[in-house]
Amino acid sequence: MKQPLLIACDFDGTVTKQDTLVEILDRYGSASWRSVQDQVVAGTLSIREGLRQEMSSVRADLHQLKNLLSERVALDAGFPPFFSRMRNSGIPVVLLSGGFDLCVETVMQRHGLWPVPYLANRLVRDNGSWRVEYPHPSAACDNCGHCKADAVKAWKEQGYFTVFVGNGVTDRCAAEVAGLTFAKDELAAWCATQKIPAVAYATFHDIEADLNRRGWL
Ligand SMILES: [Mg+2]
Ligand SMILES: [Zn+2]
Repeated sequence: MKQPLLIACDFDGTVTKQDTLVEILDRYGSASWRSVQDQVVAGTLSIREGLRQEMSSVRADLHQLKNLLSERVALDAGFPPFFSRMRNSGIPVVLLSGGFDLCVETVMQRHGLWPVPYLANRLVRDNGSWRVEYPHPSAACDNCGHCKADAVKAWKEQGYFTVFVGNGVTDRCAAEVAGLTFAKDELAAWCATQKIPAVAYATFHDIEADLNRRGWL
């Protein structure tokens, strides 16, 4: 019998075209947020600490954040048909976000794809500012706030062949352990320098076609 397939997808810039954190910080964050992010990408500041610093500078209420996300964030046009094909085939699709629960829920609701299974960090409003909580701490990794490798490893132990799709710095740990990784943008560049095998893609149409060719669908 063929091994069951499980698809784990990064959210920001992967399922979505825009990165929700970039949208929030560009509109409501401190002007210095890009230098914080540069340190995270360079590895001189942890993802966890970078996210905390970035979000603590955001001056917007819940209503403003939800409006911004609804206005600004579109999906990869290939994702909705991919998601419904997987769902109809009984193949689980889980979103692994290095961002926030609020962003995943708001965007997916807005695009009529709710509920979906996901794991993300939690954004909490606290005395007029935003605090990040990490409900999925990792024993193995103290860089990521939410280390996506933990979930991927657990699914592998359950017998799944894991496909991981990502684009950014929070996807590095998962790309190292997934059965098959699809990468674009910063993640693709990083996989190339680290010699981690990854298939280049532009949209979920490419992923669907590739999985077809491999005989998984
Ligand atoms: Mg991303
Ligand atoms: Zn990690």
